[in-house]
This record gives sequence, C-alpha cells and structure tokens, in this order.
Amino acid sequence: MNIKSKLTLAIGILVAMIVLLVVLSVVNLQILTATEPDSPAAGPGLQRALLWIYVVGAACICIGIGMWLRLPASIDNPIKELTNAIQEIANHNYEKRLELNSSEEFSEVSKNFNRMAKRLEDYHASTLSDMMASKKYMETIINSINEPIIGLNNDMEILFINDEALNVINLKREEVIKHSAQDISLRNDLLRRLIRELVEIPGEPVKDKEKEKKEPLKIYADNKESFFQVKYMSISQPGKDGVTMEKKGHVIMLKNITEFKELDSAKTTFISTISHELKTPISAIMMSLQLLEDQRIGALNEEQEDLANSIKENSERLLNITGELLNMTQVESGKLQLKPKITKPIELIEYAIKANRVQAEKFNIQIEVEYPDDKISRLFADSEKIAWVLTNLLSNAIRYSPENGRVIIGARQTDDGFIEMFVRDFGKGIDPRYHKSIFDHYFRVPGTKVQGSGLGLSISRDFVEAHNGTLTVDSKLGEGSTFVMRLKA
Ligand code: ADP
Repeated sequence: MNIKSKLTLAIGILVAMIVLLVVLSVVNLQILTATEPDSPAAGPGLQRALLWIYVVGAACICIGIGMWLRLPASIDNPIKELTNAIQEIANHNYEKRLELNSSEEFSEVSKNFNRMAKRLEDYHASTLSDMMASKKYMETIINSINEPIIGLNNDMEILFINDEALNVINLKREEVIKHSAQDISLRNDLLRRLIRELVEIPGEPVKDKEKEKKEPLKIYADNKESFFQVKYMSISQPGKDGVTMEKKGHVIMLKNITEFKELDSAKTTFISTISHELKTPISAIMMSLQLLEDQRIGALNEEQEDLANSIKENSERLLNITGELLNMTQVESGKLQLKPKITKPIELIEYAIKANRVQAEKFNIQIEVEYPDDKISRLFADSEKIAWVLTNLLSNAIRYSPENGRVIIGARQTDDGFIEMFVRDFGKGIDPRYHKSIFDHYFRVPGTKVQGSGLGLSISRDFVEAHNGTLTVDSKLGEGSTFVMRLKA
C-alpha cells in the first residue's frame, strides 16, 4: 500500500468514527428530548447510547494514538535508512543495499538506490582493476629494464624499485617499498651513498659531491665486482594551474659500466706497455743522433745536419708524448704514488726554466721571474711531479706565444697559507668556452695549429689534485693566459 492510501484510510477511519460519535450523540439527544430523562423508559436507551459513545470515543482515541505513534515513524525510519545508505556510498562502501518495504514509494526508492549502488560498485571495480592493471604494467616495464632504478617521492619514500636495484642493494621488496630511504640508509651503506646526493644525512662527512659524481660506484654483487655510473633525475609535473611545474620526487638510475671500465683498463695497460716499449728505441735513436753530431765519426754536411736536427726534434717530441702517456696511465690506473719532500718553490721554477731554455731561445721568448723578496714558505710536495707541471705550463706559454714575446713565471704566498705558482703569457689567449675542457684528456682548442697531444693540462691537474691543490686558468682572447697552481704551504 502506498503512503497516500495509508493516510486516506487512516483519516477515513477517523472521520467515520467521529461521524459515528456525532450520530450517537444526536441519537442520545433525541432520546433525551423525546422522553422524560428520569423516566424508566429513557434509562436503558440512554445507557446504551452512552456506552456506544464511550466505546466509539475510546476507539477514536486508540486509533488516534496509534496513528500518532506509527505514521511519522513509517515515514521517518525509511528516510533515516536512506540517509545512512547515502552516507555509506559517500564513504566508498558500494556494497550497501536498501530493503524498504514499508510502502510502495519507499520500495521504489530502495530499488532505484540499489540499482545505482550496483552500477557504482561495477564502475569502481572496473576502474580499480584498470588502475591495478596499469600499475602492474608499469612495474613490469620497470622490472624489465636491466639497469637498477629507484623511484622516490619528495619525502624520500621509496615508491618503486626494480629487481636489479633490489639485487644491487641486497634488500627485499617489502623491506623498501613505502619505507623511508633515509631510515633504510642507516643500515645500508650503498643506499646511503646513493641518496647522499639528494639529502643531507646527519653524521655524514661533507664530501666533494662533484668529484664523487664523476667516480663510478663500485658494487660487489652476485660474486663479482661491478661498476655503475649514477644518474639522478628530478621528477616534476604541471601543478593545479597547469603551468608551473611541481616537484614530485626523484629517480635514481644506475648504469652498469663494468664492460667499459674493463675496456678502459685494457686500453690503459696497452698505452702504458706501448709507451714503455717505445722509450727504449727512442732513447737509442737519440743516442745515435748524439754520435752523429760528434765530429769524431765524420763531419755532416749542412743538409745532413738539418736532417739530423729534424730527427732529433721529432724524437724529443716522441719522448715527451710517451712520457705524458705514461703519466696519464699512472693516474688512470690509480698507481700514482707521490714521494713528497720539503722543496723551495724557486727550485721548481728554476728547473722549469732550465727545461724550457732551448725552446724559449728558439722562438726568442723572454722568460721573466716574479718571486717575492721576503721569505716564502717551502712546499711539502712531490717535487718531480710539481716540477713537471710547471715545466708543462711554461712550455705551453712559450709554444702558444708569438715569437719575440715574453712569459712570466713566479710564485707568491697568500694570506690564507697557500703558495700560488703561476705562469703567464701574452699570447692569443683561450676562449672562455674552453676553460673547462682544456683540462680534459686529449682536448685541444679547435683550430690550434701548434703541435701537441692535448694531455699536458689534464695530467697537470691530476698531479696537482693528487696534492689536494688546484690548477686554474684565467685567460682572455687576444690578451694571453695565466695558469695558477695553488698548493698548501
Ligand atoms: P697540448 O698543448 O699538448 O695540446 P695541453 O693539455 O697542454 O695539450 O693543452 C690543451 C689545449 O689548451 C692546447 O691544445 C691549447 O689549445 C690550449 N692551451 C694550453 N695552454 C695554452 C696557452 N698558454 N695559451 C693558449 N692556449 C693554450
């Protein structure tokens, strides 16, 4: 029965009862007016009429109370149930169903509600399964990459990690996913080394990050030693305004460079062996040349002398190059051993000048020395290596200066306790674009006509850095260059 019929029926019954009550009252009144109220004939009639009035009145009151109690509840309860069910749906409980059978209207409402809940449940299940499928797909892609990858959010929580990375850091997936990388790093050295780039770790010594970034990471996993290059990527996505980018986290990628490292070390060994092997025949050539120059075995004519000089010059160059290559292989293979001793800077300067005298005379370059009159601290350094660096810088200054030019070599003490040794020329200078690259192996400024290997400055920097010093350049095109080596006094 619907609510309207229920209400109509209840009100109809009440109206009928009231009508009956009125009729009975009228009958009672007629009896009273037709007969003498105290007469015996009126007594039973009156009593019957009064009894009916009481009965009907009581029934009216009962029905009224019944309606007062039941009617609001029959509407209120289903509405409450409906409100609760809507709240459940809002809380993503899509399994909620309604059973309202108190009236036709409410059973219709519950039927429609249940239909809506069912649709929402199906939709949710399908989007959830779609999302799960996409997540699985992404995980499969990440896992199929055979280089270790770790994804972190801004709070340094590990969001994803592939099997390769788990293998390398030697942890299980459930130990890392959704866990703080900082917490894990307290008991995992490798992870600590990896995230050091992204966060400051309390208690960690401050390291030269630039230098560390260049060095490959050595990892011992699967019973073998591997080398990895670490790459950091910052993940950003468009913010709410769709324009500004919001940082969402980081991705750490490790590239396995073991193969290249092995090839590189094979190359270093090869260069080192060849350079070593070449030194003996070159020395023999130079000795033979010295004999040729000796008048005792016969005088050379002018043409022969020119040829002998050219052979000598080229042999010296070859010897220089093999020396440079040997030095480079020493640094690359990590076999560079310093033999430090107390040295006066002026002695190193004098050595460099002596080594370059012939070349300077050849191009008529004037070498000036700038050395303070007051006492300058001594150096505790491998004098052979530092002298080699100064010789190389001076040789460059001479080679890259115009004929009849001048170069300055000198040393000074700084207030903060360093010795700076410098070589200055007034040659063509170096384009600022190349100030960094000239210190790379084999790099030569494009268009450089003077012969060279591109190794001198890179070896020089390695030698100076091995002494915890710095080698820098200050140069302007057309004005010349100044190379400064800074070492702790
Ligand atoms: P090399 O001189 O044997 O080529 P270096 O490593 O000593 O190798 O120098 C690298 C490059 O830097 C040189 O090829 C040259 O182009 C540039 N360079 C070095 N020193 C000077 C200088 N004093 N003036 C101008 N250019 C220089």
